[in-house]
Amino acid sequence: MNTAFPAVEFDAAIIGKLSQSGPRYTSYPTADRFQNDFGYGQFLEAVAGLRMRRSRRPLSLYIHIPFCDTICYYCGCNKIVTKDHGKAATYLGYLKQEIAMQGRLFDGMGQIEQLHFGGGTPTYLSDRQMGDLMEHLRANFDFAPDQQGEYSIEIDPRTVSPGRVHSLRVQGFNRISLGVQDFDPEVQKAVNRIQPEAQTRLVMDAARDAGYRSISIDLIYGLPKQSLTSVARTLEQVIAADPDRIALYNYAHMPHLFKPQRRIAEADLPTPAVKLELLALCIGRLCAAGYVYIGMDHFAKPDDELAVAQRQGRLQRNFQGYSTRAESELISCGVSAISAVGATYSQNEKSLDGYYAQLDAGRLPIVRGIKLENDDLIRRIVIQKLMCNTELSISSMEQAHPIQFARYFEAELAQLKPFEAEGLLTIDPQWITVTPKGRLLIRNICMVFDRYLSLARENAPQPLRYSKTI
Ligand code: SF4
Repeated sequence: MNTAFPAVEFDAAIIGKLSQSGPRYTSYPTADRFQNDFGYGQFLEAVAGLRMRRSRRPLSLYIHIPFCDTICYYCGCNKIVTKDHGKAATYLGYLKQEIAMQGRLFDGMGQIEQLHFGGGTPTYLSDRQMGDLMEHLRANFDFAPDQQGEYSIEIDPRTVSPGRVHSLRVQGFNRISLGVQDFDPEVQKAVNRIQPEAQTRLVMDAARDAGYRSISIDLIYGLPKQSLTSVARTLEQVIAADPDRIALYNYAHMPHLFKPQRRIAEADLPTPAVKLELLALCIGRLCAAGYVYIGMDHFAKPDDELAVAQRQGRLQRNFQGYSTRAESELISCGVSAISAVGATYSQNEKSLDGYYAQLDAGRLPIVRGIKLENDDLIRRIVIQKLMCNTELSISSMEQAHPIQFARYFEAELAQLKPFEAEGLLTIDPQWITVTPKGRLLIRNICMVFDRYLSLARENAPQPLRYSKTI
């Protein structure tokens, strides 16, 4: 394992040539491979399996709050836009029921070391509702102490005051991530998200005051009205604000899938060539400012836990992107939430009515999922290692699994040859190593190991449901 930070190199010609649609591998198999015949019963079997093996793996909790006050036109999330906050009260009642059921299932099986609130907008809940929900979580799960646990929440700075930020810290959160996307007023207008820089800075100052351990900022490149000049200005503002982590997402314009995106004028979007320049600009400026490129869309300060975990080979990829907690069971509660328990993935009902109906019937609202076969588990590790560590030890794979790597992945190794010829990776009998030039095309490299994608490709042309890899 390398102890230095892996470098990243931007090569516009190769990126332009190889960019295509592809999954982001927050899971493998990806969520579109989940099956409808997987439900509550199969989930119970997976938990029973853990109990039988006396698993002591730490637990992670994800809580999904689907509501938002207003719509951001770029949004591709599963959310419900409503000003009727009464809906949140009904939702909370059901969510608490689900949490209690999960708490009983996992009783005595380990501590919660990681908690993440996502959405939607978690801060759509009032201060009182959030306090009540956190108390309920503590009553149903055993949480590791604050210094040991990673307890994070996504915050929309438009919805909180400095006082609320302090209150969230008291309620137990020790990390926050702030949705910013772009500080430019014209861009903000074009995506219907007016959020002055001062508002974001106020929240960040309050978070520092309150003693949060890490502040993260989300940005998007490729938004309408963005130019090299405007993005350079936003980057300066972001760097001056000094967050610990930065997530830089690629805006995927897919109005056929996401209705709000139809409100974005295509003429306002940067061309693919400009988008590439924007990406190069962001990577260049952030690295020059001292941030480490973690991979995919993530940057962190060298002493941030994410960068340290990568250096030590402990980084993991999950539904929230990159995570420092390898090998934990992920229990997810809320509409559409996805759990990863044992060798399974399971997803909750996507509609509120369906979610409520299942809980009314006394069942966990799991409606689809997948039980991973041995081949899935092997490929999941290969994809994880490449995405998180930029290298894969072939001998470690052979020690951990009953395979002869070169034979098992004969077809895949042949498919990697053109990438090797382009200088994106190197392959020797012991290691597959992604080069600095290959890091931005990591999705393309991982797609080679995705068996479901190869099967789909044999039957149909490139799927339109995935975003571009760059
Ligand atoms: S981007 Fe966030 S705040 Fe905006 S609509 Fe989507 S989920 Fe809601």
